[in-house]
Amino acid sequence: MMKSKSVGIVGTGPAALMAGTVLLENGIKVVFFDQKKAVARKFLVAGNGGFNLTNDEDLNLFVSRYNCEITKNAVRSFDNNDFRKFLLKIGIETFVGSSGKIFPLKGVKPIQVLKSWQNYLVNLGGEFKMEYVLKDFNEKELIFDLKGEIYSESFDYCVFALGGKSWSITGSDGKWLDIFIEKGIHCNKFESSNSGFELQEHEELKKYAGNTIKNCKVFNEKEEKFGELVITDYGIEGAPIYAMNSNFRAEEDVFIDFKPSMTAELIEGKLQKAKKQSEGLKELKLSKVVVGWLKLSLSKEDYLNNHILSMQIKNFKLNISKLRPINEVISTIGGIDRNGINESFQLEKFPRMFCIGEMLDWDAPTGGYLIQACVSQGYLAANAIISHS
Ligand SMILES: Cc1cc2nc3c(=O)[nH]c(=O)nc-3n(C[C@H](O)[C@H](O)[C@H](O)COP(=O)(O)OP(=O)(O)OC[C@H]3O[C@@H](n4cnc5c(N)ncnc54)[C@H](O)[C@@H]3O)c2cc1C
Repeated sequence: MMKSKSVGIVGTGPAALMAGTVLLENGIKVVFFDQKKAVARKFLVAGNGGFNLTNDEDLNLFVSRYNCEITKNAVRSFDNNDFRKFLLKIGIETFVGSSGKIFPLKGVKPIQVLKSWQNYLVNLGGEFKMEYVLKDFNEKELIFDLKGEIYSESFDYCVFALGGKSWSITGSDGKWLDIFIEKGIHCNKFESSNSGFELQEHEELKKYAGNTIKNCKVFNEKEEKFGELVITDYGIEGAPIYAMNSNFRAEEDVFIDFKPSMTAELIEGKLQKAKKQSEGLKELKLSKVVVGWLKLSLSKEDYLNNHILSMQIKNFKLNISKLRPINEVISTIGGIDRNGINESFQLEKFPRMFCIGEMLDWDAPTGGYLIQACVSQGYLAANAIISHS
């Protein structure tokens, strides 16, 4: 009888769990390792703020959210509907929220999603080894630190799904990067993504922290994103801000249009018509945060000039000082470079080793695109292992 293949998977996030799912469903022996005591800590953190597992968007638009071709391909091969079908198979029903985001049914806790998935894997024969810290690997074996002792185990194939570098308390600490750099695998330094913008005037804006700015547009000459923003102690955050992170990294200016439904001329006309400027602003239904922010950003003379004020309402340049510290952001870019792997996520230098998930250098906005890419990459890498002779 032919010996079944064995696969060691390091990491227990969504990328790892999906790779293991496909392998176990195909009769392959799988052992998961993780440095934490419990599985998928970041997956649970993601669940705390609304568990946005994927998105209902049409596939062409969906894949346009990713900045690299191999991730787009992975999502095409295992898409949002495939993921929903899988979740249903393990007993997790999902629903589409108003913005197209897909969540587990109301009342289903993140831990229930995780437990259903883990139980499914254990029933298929998956083994979980916790508190194993990956320290090194070679062609044949994975080498761990297990509570101060060296432990190594050999597998036919290995999958690394070690995550990015934010929220290190969840185990995704990015310390693994040095192991790969030492082996000559092309890696890039981690940077914040899906982050709020720290603003130069944050001290003056602090009094508005927690206030939202609804129905605005964040834009520059290349892109525009609509949605809601939130003022914070350090500056501003919200989905349109996260989506403009790459523009800030590319040193491009970023602007807000506080009144996208009106032209500057229309706004100026309304201001001119009003008896007092404050009444005109009220009629424009600009929130007190927006009015306060405009006031503190303009000289008194400019603020009282209806032409300048209306131009500012439409083209308000953000004074961004930096992105949030890496440990606090939703995701990171950096990690294993695209040139270090092939289209099946196989390491070019180690053909029996695969890298998937946020440990790879790709980017996507929030909205379910991150978890979807991780599971799609896991699916594709697992199938590559299955068909590898
Ligand atoms: C606050 C927050 C909210 C989020 N919300 C969403 C959301 O709603 N929707 C969405 O799509 N995405 C969301 N994300 C992002 C999403 O959680 C991640 O992109 C996803 O978990 C990455 O999955 P992964 O499998 O690549 O790695 P991870 O989930 O990061 O897992 C990596 C695993 O590898 C282990 N590991 C690391 N190094 C070692 C080592 N040396 N040895 C052994 N084990 C190691 C870690 O302990 C960890 O368990 C959110 C993230 C955060 C922080």
